[in-house]
Amino acid sequence: MTAEQLAGHLRAFQDAADDHDGNRAVGTAGYRASVDHVVERLRAAGYDPRVQAFTVPYDEDHGDYHDDHHDEETVTERRVTYNVLADTPTGDPDSTVLVGAHLDSVPESPGLNDNGSGAAGVLAVAEALAGTDTRNRVRFAWWGAEEVNLNGADHYVSDLRANDPGAFDDIALYLNLDMIGSPNYGRFVYDGDTSGGGWHDDSVEAPAGSEAIEAALEGYFESVEMAVEEVPIDDGSDHLVFAEAGIPVGGLFTGDTGEKTRQQAARYGGEAGEDYDPCYHSACDDLDNVDLQVLEEMSDATAAVVLGFASSTIDDGARLRPPDGWPRRSALEELDPVLTGLVALGVLVAATAAVAVAVRRRARVRR
Ligand SMILES: [Zn+2]
Repeated sequence: MTAEQLAGHLRAFQDAADDHDGNRAVGTAGYRASVDHVVERLRAAGYDPRVQAFTVPYDEDHGDYHDDHHDEETVTERRVTYNVLADTPTGDPDSTVLVGAHLDSVPESPGLNDNGSGAAGVLAVAEALAGTDTRNRVRFAWWGAEEVNLNGADHYVSDLRANDPGAFDDIALYLNLDMIGSPNYGRFVYDGDTSGGGWHDDSVEAPAGSEAIEAALEGYFESVEMAVEEVPIDDGSDHLVFAEAGIPVGGLFTGDTGEKTRQQAARYGGEAGEDYDPCYHSACDDLDNVDLQVLEEMSDATAAVVLGFASSTIDDGARLRPPDGWPRRSALEELDPVLTGLVALGVLVAATAAVAVAVRRRARVRR
């Protein structure tokens, strides 16, 4: 794909924000305009996109959205928002390769790196694969309300499990793109085999099969001689919903808050000691805040890996996600001596820790 193609999508998201109060947040006209762009371009590429409406609980008194698990007493209304989904017309639906990005911004920002970059990347991959006969079906997804407790992905998974469990079982893997054009970027691949360490309270145990996605992405970057490093799979984006549902997850990321190290500056260029994205969740996360070169690198990697899994989701002789599931690894316990210690101390202490993690999780800002 080309930088021009990606830049065209970014321009459309910037226009969507500029024409509607400077943002593309859940429930806004800027978000609708973003949906319209994705749908239009998918149709032009020959897809038959589906717009999936769902509602998000809204608290009028505080001007706040909530997730469905929130205390409903303060919720005064429910507002409608949307996911966009599109399938390759060919390919075995029993082994669906799902690749997605959230399409909403936070209300304070036009959200061009977070996550116009990922949304543009998925759209460019869909355009690149249009007309290609694949052995497995590929489903492209743009999630609404990620910035509100991952509501869009959550709705998609809950809806499938309740109304079409067979189709839920058919999802072989989920590949997530959230922030892939950071101006002071690193190249990060989700650590599906938990080999990279760096586990913390927000880390999520990756379901078995996730290591195959990491290996495929790293294999691609090795083949084009580009340096990458692993990033722990945390609870900061839509992949959490799929990981918790037992679906292998992987993804790419180029950094949000957090300072670039000297080692990373030597590896990727850019400024050591500065944030990967100094405009994270701010008004300045606009078109100028996206590095087109790294966005193209990440989108090319996604296209290559999606195409690979579209030919086969068999890894080491086993289907990436067999119906009966692989044994889950207890990697988190192996790697995190603190957590292992807690488990050894007894159920009560472990349960207390779990509650603390759950509370932090709910309070955490989404990427
Ligand atoms: Zn994001």
